[in-house]
Amino acid sequence: MKKYQKLNRREALKLMAAGSTLAGSGLYARTDVLSAKGAALTHPASHKHARIVIAGGGTAGIIAAARTRRAAPNAEITLISPNEKHLYQSGALFRAAGLMSEHEMVRDTSSFFPDNVRWLQEKVTAFDPQKSIVESEKSGKIPYDVLIVALGCAYDYGAIEGMDAEKVGRDGVLSIYLNDTIEGSAKGAELSHALFQKLQGDVVTATKPLEVLFCEPDTPIKGKGSALSLMMLYLDLLKKKGGSQKVRFTYVTPSSQLLDEKEFDEALKKILKKHRNVEILYGHTLQKLDTASKKATLVSGDKSVERGYDYIHITPPMHAHPLVRDSALAVADGPQKGWMDVDPATLRHRKYENIFGLGDVIALDYAKSGGAVQHQGIILQDNIAAALEEDKLTYHYDGYTVAPVVTAYGKVLLAEYNSQKALPTFFLDPYEPRVIWWWLQRYFMPWAYFNLLMRGMM
Ligand SMILES: Cc1cc2nc3c(=O)[nH]c(=O)nc-3n(C[C@H](O)[C@H](O)[C@H](O)COP(=O)(O)OP(=O)(O)OC[C@H]3O[C@@H](n4cnc5c(N)ncnc54)[C@H](O)[C@@H]3O)c2cc1C
Repeated sequence: MKKYQKLNRREALKLMAAGSTLAGSGLYARTDVLSAKGAALTHPASHKHARIVIAGGGTAGIIAAARTRRAAPNAEITLISPNEKHLYQSGALFRAAGLMSEHEMVRDTSSFFPDNVRWLQEKVTAFDPQKSIVESEKSGKIPYDVLIVALGCAYDYGAIEGMDAEKVGRDGVLSIYLNDTIEGSAKGAELSHALFQKLQGDVVTATKPLEVLFCEPDTPIKGKGSALSLMMLYLDLLKKKGGSQKVRFTYVTPSSQLLDEKEFDEALKKILKKHRNVEILYGHTLQKLDTASKKATLVSGDKSVERGYDYIHITPPMHAHPLVRDSALAVADGPQKGWMDVDPATLRHRKYENIFGLGDVIALDYAKSGGAVQHQGIILQDNIAAALEEDKLTYHYDGYTVAPVVTAYGKVLLAEYNSQKALPTFFLDPYEPRVIWWWLQRYFMPWAYFNLLMRGMM
């Protein structure tokens, strides 16, 4: 057993207590009448014979299928999504550090389908919300009574001058984000791991510290905290091999905060201050990359600076899936332009009452995580039943999201919050990185994701 994986008696007692909280929190609750937190759903299931179409079969689409099945047992539910495989995207962090296998991250999409949900394994090609029709690649026009949009977000590596997805894995460019949710592959994590191994070799022969940049974009992102986690995990792994003094990490962010909630942000900044070879460059965005000369141009307001690097990790700019971004379903203007225009409390489209959205595609910039989808799924279950009965939608999403940040090998800060405050699931001090949260993220969550969450049981 590795040094950091040992639990002392106090931690073990806390883990047991946390386990009982998990069980008590409704993990095994009756999901027809209870939410994941054990709270009663506000609306009983609707027995109407409605046609419900779900666009997208990733985390949000599959959870929506499981929960809609319970909300509307007599409905004809169709899920349209091309991916034969399903990728556990959160695993990319551990994969990039060589701590998780591909096998642990991928399952057959068909293994998650609830009974009586029809799967059209093809792409949606257009929405016609005026006529309540979805168009798909092979099946053509599909009419619906209720539409649930769960198409996720798209990467835009090309928005950084000189950069494109093909450059990941070459010339010192890492990106754990690069993946293909249609193929079910986590290419970026594998390529990043290979480059980290190269970096470890370079450290041995380096005569001056290697410069490693981590750059966050100025768009909303999913998996907040993942790049920071990678930086701190790499730093700690290098430390264990005695090479950390020969590496300087710079984390570049357009924001003045690392996490969206103030107290978690402060807790994280305090931890980072202890690392002398980590610099945080606030208020800066990567504008241009010259991979041949290994130079990054960073902008801050009207100023720009050039930074040389040996390795650079890129979190790509992100926007809503193009089918939503370029449709009448998108927010037309303002900072959320292009993301799906839903009421943040009910998840119902602001203009089209028979359309709902959940997951990364919706216009909530800080709440793009699997944890956010878990909570949104419960709200959806209640509100779909209410909408079918033409009742008021009374169960409201509180904006919960989670950004687990690895602060060292074996330690995780479990940042659970909404835009106003911390929303810890457990009773332990949430601002403290803990071994048990490492166990939760590395071992429990991959299992729970496939066996509970994706079946709408969590
Ligand atoms: C590196 C990384 C680390 C992360 N870490 C965490 C973490 O630690 N904790 C956490 O909670 N979350 C984490 N996340 C975020 C989490 O994975 C996402 O928020 C979640 O998967 C969002 O689900 P979604 O269904 O909205 O999108 P996706 O899961 O991306 O699903 C979109 C689906 O749409 C389908 N699709 C695409 N085009 C079409 C089309 N034309 N027609 C029909 N279907 C289509 C795709 O096949 C895909 O199945 C991380 C993500 C990444 C990338």
